[in-house]
Amino acid sequence: MNIAIDGPAGAGKSTIARLAANRLGFVYVDTGAMYRAIALYLLDAKTDIEDEQALKNALSNIHINIVYESNVQHVFLDLQDVSTEIRSEKVGNMASKSSALAPVREKLLDLQRDIAAKNDVIMDGRDIGTNILPNAELKIYLTASVDVRAKRRYDELILHGEKPDLEDIKKGIETRDYQDMNRDIAPLKQADDAVLIDSSDMTITEVVDTIVKLAEEKK
Ligand code: C5P
Repeated sequence: MNIAIDGPAGAGKSTIARLAANRLGFVYVDTGAMYRAIALYLLDAKTDIEDEQALKNALSNIHINIVYESNVQHVFLDLQDVSTEIRSEKVGNMASKSSALAPVREKLLDLQRDIAAKNDVIMDGRDIGTNILPNAELKIYLTASVDVRAKRRYDELILHGEKPDLEDIKKGIETRDYQDMNRDIAPLKQADDAVLIDSSDMTITEVVDTIVKLAEEKK
């Protein structure tokens, strides 16, 4: 069985998908991490992503491996586990830019479909229900207001000992939303047959319960 969860940055997709996957005994697949791994490589290699040939060359050098350890997804660039490094704002912003490019999306399409074909998955991203897994048994579009998403991110950074600026975070989220929703290829949008969940006024447990219940009805 395949469950697709799409939605904007900071809607809580990964936390919720991970918990729901544990409850259902499914594999949680974080596709954003794959785009982030490519972005990390492009940043480190100082690739000019506007230069088609340079991008092509860089992509042919990128070998992404997805490994599951105790149900936790680890992303490797060649032999290096980059799962922690890819979490920075810098890498997230680059991922939002580079994921708009066709060669980048093509590179990840088969990898994502292949994992879904071999496992019961909850896969989260931006185009899973619309493009990667159009036949997923259950599709969720998970969103929350910009203010709520910014505040959640702010609290998370405070917890990590950082000194974030709430307005900067809000602007960053708005920019990413715009880029993800307005790109030509595979823009973020709700699939026609997706269930909309607005988590602005819901707890994590409430959202997970809703998804697990919907999944059990489809089993
Ligand atoms: O979800 P996360 O913030 O980790 O994703 C980073 C970026 O990767 C997103 O802003 C989006 O541009 C891109 N992405 C995508 N398609 C996906 C997953 C992520 O374009 N399926």
